[in-house]
Amino acid sequence: MTGAAPLPEDPTILGRLDQLHADLTRHATYDLGFPGATDLPDMTAVSRFERLLLNNVGHPYAAGGSYRLHTKVVEHEVVQFVADLVDAPLDNRHGYVTTGSTESTLWALWQARQHLPGAAVFASTAAHYSVAKNAELLGLRLHLIPADDRGEIRYDVLRAAVADHRRTRRGAGAIVIATIGTTMTEAVDDAALIDEALTLAGVAPEQRWIHADAALAGIPLALCDPLSRPGFTFADGVHSFAVSGHKFLATPFPCGIVVALADRHTGRGSITYTAAPDSTITGSRSGHAPLWLWYLLRYWGLPGLRGRAIAARDLAAYTERQLHGIGWPAWRAQEHAFTVVFPRPPQHLLDRWPLATDERGNAHVVCMPGKTRDLIDRFVTDLAHTLTGTVSLPGSVAC
Ligand SMILES: *Cc1c(COP(=O)(O)O)cnc(C)c1O
Repeated sequence: MTGAAPLPEDPTILGRLDQLHADLTRHATYDLGFPGATDLPDMTAVSRFERLLLNNVGHPYAAGGSYRLHTKVVEHEVVQFVADLVDAPLDNRHGYVTTGSTESTLWALWQARQHLPGAAVFASTAAHYSVAKNAELLGLRLHLIPADDRGEIRYDVLRAAVADHRRTRRGAGAIVIATIGTTMTEAVDDAALIDEALTLAGVAPEQRWIHADAALAGIPLALCDPLSRPGFTFADGVHSFAVSGHKFLATPFPCGIVVALADRHTGRGSITYTAAPDSTITGSRSGHAPLWLWYLLRYWGLPGLRGRAIAARDLAAYTERQLHGIGWPAWRAQEHAFTVVFPRPPQHLLDRWPLATDERGNAHVVCMPGKTRDLIDRFVTDLAHTLTGTVSLPGSVAC
């Protein structure tokens, strides 16, 4: 290959890309088990930015640094949009666009550790696996609290564990990760009940930090009638809140948004190299992620986002009914969930339909925006045939 040849004309490159694209598209048609939305609109309006190197390096609000090729103006608007949805106080909010909810949890725990030296972390056994990893990275002690059968944290056990921690650690603070939509069942830990448990365990308001890990369910729940949903907002006592961009908001790459109380935020000093303060986990940060998020939020607007959430819930209710219809037990952890949980189907069905499964013997489908009744019908029909054994499935789809 000579250096002068334009790459797209190299047939081996195009061939590889065609093959990869075909494989990925085929996998996408069987994706029911993971929370990726598939109704991404035409993104032509922002695609021209793909040819610009955009780096939101450093502090999200410090637009005055010496590096100019960034999208902090729209990043700020994205953070404000989410902060408004979850009642973050207007005069006391901070946040930024992260690489995803994993980084958001790491950042929240890092902030909490600076604010509450000696505090321990409490999370349910149904919390995302990244909680344990992040606690370990920060050298924070993690107490795992059992969840009930649906996957919601046991508030009575939390209260006892926090009280015990305070007795043995002479009044040290408590950091609680409230999972707002667990990965397996989409159960919601009610932040107001967690707040109450901390009060009962004798934790003063300034000694607690509740982080709401709302990777999938945060935006859809925020669009529900507040009287019909569990507590998970700043009004319910959380100090930080995170959603993923590549779940409900459908960005075609991983990203996330974290919001926190500004008066709990501890930044780092100004970096000479960029002349901007550093307050995030990574140094260089994507300038494209905020732009894609901003466009999607503006494109759908609140009514569009609400409509997508309602359609997803309707599909989940439909899925539950169809599964019951073939005699397969199925349930949802709460009425707003997109996730339908059922006993793990036979392995040869899972070869065709890759589903997440857990140690309790459950599997689930997540009825994300863009999934259709037709897709559900195909899955349920396959399951019904597997159960009755009347039709053998075609060969499995290799990964
Ligand atoms: C998906 C998920 C995460 C991880 O989010 P990423 O954005 O993929 O890092 C964390 N917590 C919960 C509850 C999740 O569902």
